Amino acid sequence: MSNEKNVILRGVAASSGIAIGKVFLLTDDDFSLVYKEVPKSERCFEKKRLDDAIEKTKTEFKLICDKINKVLVGNYAHIADVHLLILDDPMLKKDVCKFIDDGVNAECAILNVINKIIRSFEAIEDGYFKERKTDIQYVGKKIIDNLLGRQKKTFANLSKDSIVIAHNLTPADAVVIRENLVKGFATDIGGKTSHTAIVAQGLAIPAVVGLRTISLQVRTGDEIIVDGNRGEIILNPEPRTIAKYIKEHDVQVVKIKELEKLRDLPAETIDNHKVSIFANIENPDDVASILNHGATGIGLYRTEFMYFNRNSIPSEQEHFDKYSKIVKEMTPYETTIRTVDLGGDRLTKLGLLNIGHEKNPFLGLRAMRLCLKHPDIFVDQLRGILKASAYGKVRLMYPMITSIEELRGANRILEKVKHDLREKHIKFDEKIKIGVMIEVPSAAMIIDIIAREVDFVSIGTNDLIQYTLAIDRVNENVSNLYDPLHPAILRFIKQIVDGCHKAGISVGMCGEMAGDQQYTSILLGLGLDEFSVPSAHVPKIKKVVRNTFFSNVQKNADEILKCGSRDSVLQTMKMLSKYDKNMFI
Ligand code: PEP
Ligand code: MG
Repeated sequence: MSNEKNVILRGVAASSGIAIGKVFLLTDDDFSLVYKEVPKSERCFEKKRLDDAIEKTKTEFKLICDKINKVLVGNYAHIADVHLLILDDPMLKKDVCKFIDDGVNAECAILNVINKIIRSFEAIEDGYFKERKTDIQYVGKKIIDNLLGRQKKTFANLSKDSIVIAHNLTPADAVVIRENLVKGFATDIGGKTSHTAIVAQGLAIPAVVGLRTISLQVRTGDEIIVDGNRGEIILNPEPRTIAKYIKEHDVQVVKIKELEKLRDLPAETIDNHKVSIFANIENPDDVASILNHGATGIGLYRTEFMYFNRNSIPSEQEHFDKYSKIVKEMTPYETTIRTVDLGGDRLTKLGLLNIGHEKNPFLGLRAMRLCLKHPDIFVDQLRGILKASAYGKVRLMYPMITSIEELRGANRILEKVKHDLREKHIKFDEKIKIGVMIEVPSAAMIIDIIAREVDFVSIGTNDLIQYTLAIDRVNENVSNLYDPLHPAILRFIKQIVDGCHKAGISVGMCGEMAGDQQYTSILLGLGLDEFSVPSAHVPKIKKVVRNTFFSNVQKNADEILKCGSRDSVLQTMKMLSKYDKNMFI
């Protein structure tokens, strides 16, 4: 917190661009509920915490009752009375205590019970119960706030000029930030493919992560520059520095405007090899931006973002509403809806799924594993996706498949859901394409077997790199080792592409590697059919494609595949770039 000028901090470039603004320091970074196992000896104390929180909540509700009675004519206090009645219900407390007896912490125990009640209310078609659902959610939230000693969210004073600085931002926080359209953000922890970084790229907001101590070095209101191109932060910049960055920013804006001219041109090499350039999406509101950037489909819709910032699991209706909206807007293009990939760094209110604490969440109950363990959640989503498929072109994609059994297990559930819809005469696309993400080495190794049982494949390099190179994708200590050009990764990509082509299916890539133009020609050369990238990156990837000879990059890829080290990959790329200016941008 010094007044020193032009202090440069180096981190990981998470989302490109320059942002100049004022710091908004977010100190309360833990907005999501974390499950904690309560040892037997502490369960009595946990119940006492619960009692105290309930009492505190009661006092607050009584105060509200009094206020309402003073302000309003007539007895409107029955609104708050309803909340008091719910709080006083002995069944509520009994059910919560049962969870605590099983070792669940009070916050998650409350959440579990509230969600159970809400789910049973959802099954009843009655306006009265719908209203009670909101009341129950509200009461649950208030008790949890008191358990956590949580005050109102600190996002309140965020403005469009803010640059958010935090120790960590959960994907859920990033969604809140999204709504406020801040200028940029920077965090102490995280890697290039952490979900916070992915959200920043999706929104085209400059971001730097993995800065280690930035949250301790700034105060709200400090002047700051986020250089998302180099992965740097400049604290207290001098006027000269600000002027330099404004110039760089303006040059970039001009370049982006130039690229926009490519919007309606095909993604085709000079020698007429066509590929698809699709976009990744996290939020249904981003469809317009996707189309504006010239993407001709959605190659990855990360549906888990629907599960953040809420205390209940999305219902079938919500799934359907969101998906059908996107699918209609994307017509005539395809929308690839990935079934939910919760777990890993997307630790939302997992208490409601009873997952328990995991030491290595990326190796834990994540994505398809979680869905197969909780088929009810999976079924609701599948029904929503299938129903939406009646309104346009939908592809359904499973994340994190590790074995053929997992794929078949998911398909068995899907077939049951289809059967049920048919029986009820509910329309869906009978020819809906089913695909998988290949993002785990075991799946890459058996691509020949998997490819025979799916309609398409998309390579998830964010995870494929993480699991192949044993590098935690959100850990800034190893982010320098996160390397798409590791020969093992390039060979895996080649193996996956060849396996898919042999089976006669198309293969895309939706990991961040696909959106980085320095890899475009090598990926083209390896035979990739589809690039799915953050929408703002669509034009620059298209530009590389349109300036490339497919026959050249195919030969180049053969050379690069012979390399046994990153250094020799780089050297070969450099050497080849003398002949092909796009090889190494
Ligand atoms: C990936 O792993 O490359 C991918 C696209 O999925 P996610 O980043 O959502 O894990
Ligand atoms: Mg993944």
